[in-house]
Parts: sequence; structure tokens; C-alpha cells
Amino acid sequence: MRKIKNYCFRILLALLISFSYLFTPLTVQAKQATNILELKEHLAELKSQKQAQANAKSETQSEINTKKNNIYNAYKEKENIANEVEDAKNKIVESEESIKTASEDIDNILRYYQVSNDNNNYIDYVTDVSSITDLIMRMKAVEQITSYYDNKIKTLNSLIKEKQNLQVELADKNADLDVKITNFSNALSSLNNQLEAIDEISEDIDTQIKAQEETIKYYQSICDSETQLLSTCTNDPQSFGWRKPTVKGRVSSGFGYRSFDNNFHPGIDIAGNSEGTYEYATAAGRVAAITYRSSCGGNIVYLHVTVNGQRYTVQYAHMLEIKVKLNQMVTTDTVVGTVGGYSTSKYYSGGYDSCAYGAHLHYGVATGWYHVDYNSWSKFVSNLINPPGFPARGVWWYKR
Ligand SMILES: [Zn+2]
Repeated sequence: MRKIKNYCFRILLALLISFSYLFTPLTVQAKQATNILELKEHLAELKSQKQAQANAKSETQSEINTKKNNIYNAYKEKENIANEVEDAKNKIVESEESIKTASEDIDNILRYYQVSNDNNNYIDYVTDVSSITDLIMRMKAVEQITSYYDNKIKTLNSLIKEKQNLQVELADKNADLDVKITNFSNALSSLNNQLEAIDEISEDIDTQIKAQEETIKYYQSICDSETQLLSTCTNDPQSFGWRKPTVKGRVSSGFGYRSFDNNFHPGIDIAGNSEGTYEYATAAGRVAAITYRSSCGGNIVYLHVTVNGQRYTVQYAHMLEIKVKLNQMVTTDTVVGTVGGYSTSKYYSGGYDSCAYGAHLHYGVATGWYHVDYNSWSKFVSNLINPPGFPARGVWWYKR
């Protein structure tokens, strides 16, 4: 039931948000950023939205606490009322007993005066002239005593009436409190729903902030300034065909599944060169990432290149030296680094690279530009292709 209520609430909220979006078409989200500055403005807007959600959350939280207090106090009041009712009931019972006792007292007194003198009855006294004075005195006394008890009983009866009225009043109060508690509880449950919705929106905003930061980082790596039109930042140099990374060499291990170790080889190994041999960019582009002393791959360079209008990410691993800087533009004449793999091998030379078993270049190509780091490595791997422009395994080349 609560689930269904939540669900309805969310749909309502989503509708509200989408309608407000329709009627305010000039929000930051609707605007397409044209440069990094505007991307940053959007990011700042997202961050202030996040702050607003945080404020809304703490407001809602304090409203929830108020409602909880209200409910607690209402129950406390009901408890007091129950005590008062109990008290009134006791008072009524007490009063009724007092009335009973008083009535009995009167009866006894009357009986006493009627029968106490020489076992004669009351009529005898009235007719007995000799004791007329005595009779008057006695009647006076009886009158006084009965009026005293009458007053006492009257007082007790009005006390009973008062307590009965109080009970009615308390029952009304109790019913009012029940209504209040129901209202507070309903308000509380809708506040809890509101809190959940706020949390969800906050999560969405967090995701958007993360994406926006990534986008800014990306454009910062390809634009010359923060005011440069984003569309012109993508005009990286491009090549119309691939060149080889080394002047000479041969493919010693191919791309894909290898039967000898049953592993997926995410590129090709190029052998036939000693350590220190130059490795060139295979297409025009930019240095996208550099990893130093990776435990598997050693020194690694990633290039973002464009070939025939198609973007690729290129990887050079097991390098002895890296000769480029991050974000540096490269042409096919640029020396990216030098062949390594033997002296950095963990097994042969006590180095840091546990995936190298001799001097060679591991060369990988993936479609698309990736912001390559350890975290996105798997994504990079899923787009790998067999590097184009190489002869069959074992066939030597002597020209790039
Ligand atoms: Zn390899």
C-alpha cells in the first residue's frame, strides 16, 4: 500500500517537474552550452540545485521531527485525559457512596427520634400534650439534622453532575486528539514520501554533476581556451590512412584470443626492435593519457587520433621512455617514445612490468576517444579492434 502511494507520489512529482520544464523553456538545462565557460555555469547551477535539495531535505527533516513531537504530545495528552477520566469516575463512586451513607444516617436519626422514648411511636408524642415542648424541640432538632444532610447530599449530587459533565468534556477532547493524531500521521507519511523524492532528485543531480564534470574535463583537453566554440574544439588534425609505429618489425603476437595462454590479447605485439628504438604516432591526433610504471604494461601512452573522419584511441605499452606530454598534438612524424619491455620486465630484470617478457611494443587500437585511465580500461577494451595496416604475423616490414 505504501509502495503504491510512493509510486503515485513519484508520478505526480515527475509530471509536475516535466510541466514546469515545459512552461519555463529558458532553464539552464534547456540551453546548449557553446563553450567551456557555459559548461561551467551549468555545473554551478547544478551544484546550487544540489544545495537547494539539501536545504529542502533538512527542512523536511525538521518538519518530520515537529510532526513526530506533535504526535508524541497528543498521546501524552490522551494519557492525561485517561487519568482525569479515571479520577472523575472515582469521585463519582465516592460521592455516590457518601450520599448512600448520608441517607442511611438520616433514616437512622429519624428512626431513633420516632422510637426512642419509652417505645412509644411518633403519633403518641404529637398527641401527648404533656410532652409537647419536648416534641417541638425534637422536631426542630430533626429539621436541623435533615437540612444539614440535605445540603450535604445536594452538594454531593452537584459534584457528581460536575464530574459527569467533565467526563463528557474529556471524551470530546479525546476525540479531538484522535483526529489530530490521524492528521499528524497523514502529514508525516507524506513528508516521508517527500523526503524519499528529494533523495531521488539529489541522486539524479549528482549523476548530472558527475557527467558535467567529465564533459568539462573532456573539452578542457581538446579546446585551446574556455571561450572557444565547442564545435571548433573537435577539429583535431586527422590522417587519411594509418602508418606503422616502428620503421621495421614484425607482428609476433596477434590480436584476439591466443591459444597458447587462452587469453584475449587486446592488441598486437611488434618485435624485431631493440630497446630504445623510436616509436612513432600512427595517425595525427593528441596525447590523451599517459600512465607511468603500470604493473601490467609499464609506461603506457594513449593517443586520440582521427583517421578518415573516424576517431580512434591508440595504446602504446611497455615503453622504455615516453617522449610526449599530455595533450600534445602529434603527427605521424612525432616520436611517442621508445621500445622497452625487457629491462622493465618484472621477471627478467626485476622491473615493475609483470606483463612484459622481452623488448617489444604492445600496440592496441579501439574505436572512439576514451578518457583512458584504470577505471575506464574495461570500456576501452570492449571497443578494441584488430590494429589496421599490418602484414600477417611473422612477416617483416622495413618501411613505415
Ligand atoms: Zn601485447
